[in-house]
Amino acid sequence: MSMQMPTAPLPRGSLMTKSYSKDQIEAEALRLREAIRQVGLWDLETCRTIAPLTLEINELKSQNDVFLIAHSYQTPDIVYGVADSVSDSYTLSKAARDAPQQTILFSSVRFMAETAKIVSPHKTVLHPSPEAGCTLADSITAEDVRELKSKYPGVPVACYINTSAEVKAEVDVCVTSSNYLRICERLPGDRLIFVPDRLMGKHLTEYLAGRKEVINYDGECYVHATFTGEKIRSWRERTAAQGIDLKVLSHPECDADVIAESDVVGSSEALMDEAIRLGEEGSPDIMLITECGTADRIRAETETELNLIGTCVMCRYMKMTQLEDILQALRDPRPEQIIELNADVIERASRSLDEMFRLAE
Ligand code: SF4
Repeated sequence: MSMQMPTAPLPRGSLMTKSYSKDQIEAEALRLREAIRQVGLWDLETCRTIAPLTLEINELKSQNDVFLIAHSYQTPDIVYGVADSVSDSYTLSKAARDAPQQTILFSSVRFMAETAKIVSPHKTVLHPSPEAGCTLADSITAEDVRELKSKYPGVPVACYINTSAEVKAEVDVCVTSSNYLRICERLPGDRLIFVPDRLMGKHLTEYLAGRKEVINYDGECYVHATFTGEKIRSWRERTAAQGIDLKVLSHPECDADVIAESDVVGSSEALMDEAIRLGEEGSPDIMLITECGTADRIRAETETELNLIGTCVMCRYMKMTQLEDILQALRDPRPEQIIELNADVIERASRSLDEMFRLAE
């Protein structure tokens, strides 16, 4: 089992930007402040400091015909300053495939950029922060999957999409947080191997109890593993004492006792839509059990005043990419910032993604 350790991203101010006029900077800063909509953290002065970076990145994107996609957990300056599309990894990979541009820059962690390369093998995929791994994806290697297959011959293997291309190439089917229950239920036989997330695996085991045996792995997302059902119960008690009807929205990478305490369980996009819908329907008191980026997006994308209660957890890998890294990768990508995958791995990993489309229907 390997674990990729994070290294520091480029410090702010380490890259010289082009010069822009005072008026250009001011107009861009106003655009950023309006789009991010968190005046406490992203005030006009802060937006002025990043404006030269977003201006040059957006210029380079159109000059070089680059489609820039960012995961929802990226920081708001990337999400609202330079991204052409923002969503979860699976939706973004499809957006990358369907975009007319031949160069994709994926602002996120490594496995997501690899997934984009698998579905768009003829495009150039840039990943500005090669050091941005993921505790979940890095918990398992292709060799680990081969060992499981030889220990349980003939048992179908499903992997969560948060895995490397090499792992995807070894399994029968990939799944996402929105379709893993449905797909695993449809796999043939009365046993299946589920990798690498032990917490999703636990949830899956309970869901399939009495119908299928699930052989689990022991990887986890360190962000979602932080939350506990106990924490939710204590927040519910505290808020109920104040007459607040708290709605708890959580991601399926959390532990089963968190899921059991939640009103809604879903992917980042599903949680965002649900929080906005609840706010519009008069239930603004929401506890979000996921990475902080989802709360940033909700704040920016609804006019309704929401009371987001409790704490979110920041993923240090997701926050490694800064505007400076993106600018540098657009100007002159280093070899390690260009995703290269073996053709055989691409072919076999595509099959497990195609199988997901087939079974998700
Ligand atoms: S939030 Fe969790 S699953 Fe997502 S990149 Fe970070 S460690 Fe990996």
